[in-house]
Amino acid sequence: MSPSSPGLWPTFISAYAGLFGLLIGSFLNVVVYRVPNGLSIVSPPSACPGCGHVIKAYDNIPVLSWLILRGKCRSCAKPISKRYPLVEAGTGIVFAGVALWAWTGGASARPAEGAPGILVLVGFLYLAAVSVALGLIDIDTHRLPDAIVLPSYLVGVALFTVAAVVSGDYSALLRAGVGMAVLWTAYLLMALAYPGGMGFGDVKLAGLLGLFLGWVGWGPLLVGAFAAFLLGGLFSLALLAARKVNRKSGIPFGPWMLAGAWTGIIGGDSLWKGYLALVGL
Ligand SMILES: [Zn+2]
Repeated sequence: MSPSSPGLWPTFISAYAGLFGLLIGSFLNVVVYRVPNGLSIVSPPSACPGCGHVIKAYDNIPVLSWLILRGKCRSCAKPISKRYPLVEAGTGIVFAGVALWAWTGGASARPAEGAPGILVLVGFLYLAAVSVALGLIDIDTHRLPDAIVLPSYLVGVALFTVAAVVSGDYSALLRAGVGMAVLWTAYLLMALAYPGGMGFGDVKLAGLLGLFLGWVGWGPLLVGAFAAFLLGGLFSLALLAARKVNRKSGIPFGPWMLAGAWTGIIGGDSLWKGYLALVGL
């Protein structure tokens, strides 16, 4: 089955990516719980924390199973958190959006078709999955595990290098390298200057996000880097205003780095061009 008109490709790819995202979201629920606890993500199979009953494949269908079981374990009726179906649905929506963006030429100015386009699409879907997992883990535990961040550098560098070699255009790869080095260095300096504010987990994540932002473009790199501070700063001010926190209570910065980076990836190009037009350049 394939769409008859080339104009349908974005919808088709996006729908498939969305369904794939539901399954990945189900896996991310496992990652988010097990990786910070140093547990294997492949074994043992998922079980109900209430009664230890192993969850059957037919009770592990993303979103649907939770709805059919009305949010309760089939054997002991212990409630299953709403977070599981929300993470699954959220990852599905994010994957559909990223696929649409990449397939319509968003992943840098190059044509998205062909082998390089698919490698880049896979790279950004991978980053989307990692972003969901790291954002939730940082909120839960105030940590950004090396077990997720460090291998992601290898995945990004490998996919982008092959995409550059296949297309014969090395400009995006060069920008990616610069983006990685610049953001890593900037966060390292901040971590050294304000040891209480920024952790080395943030430094390692910054380099990874710089790699992907740089691939998309200079504008996205700048917008992505600044948006993290803008979003995080506004949220902190709102919390302070609502007296939910005092200045000492630590708010993890990782989720804002991730939200900022995705703002840069998806909207950075338009935002940057709009800014340049505004200042008359
Ligand atoms: Zn149970």
